[in-house]
Amino acid sequence: MLIACPACDATYQVPDHLVAAGRQMRCAKCGHDWHFVPEVAPSAERRPEPVEPAPVAAPPLERPVVSTPPTDAAKPGKLVLALAWVASVLAVAGGVAALFLLRVPLAEAWPPLERLYGWVGL
Ligand SMILES: [Zn+2]
Repeated sequence: MLIACPACDATYQVPDHLVAAGRQMRCAKCGHDWHFVPEVAPSAERRPEPVEPAPVAAPPLERPVVSTPPTDAAKPGKLVLALAWVASVLAVAGGVAALFLLRVPLAEAWPPLERLYGWVGL
């Protein structure tokens, strides 16, 4: 698909599957940002395009700078989430273990805590 920068009219040849659903674009020539939306419905684009002979003296097209969607951050995000879960479970388990292991000094420091230990059978 041929895409033209709306600011400076620089043209870029972009594979259809990259822009079929619309995409945030940045012009490599002038730096203009815009959201590209294809004018043709996606169903109409599936027709086999007629094979055209490549122009001999056509100037080379500039490579487009396509901003990457945030899907690249999906894997690190899952890792961070898993680590956060492990840290949360460890924090809760550590708190429960501390309440159990330090029950004597805790009960001495705060006598109402003995009722809690009585409820759980300690
Ligand atoms: Zn431009």
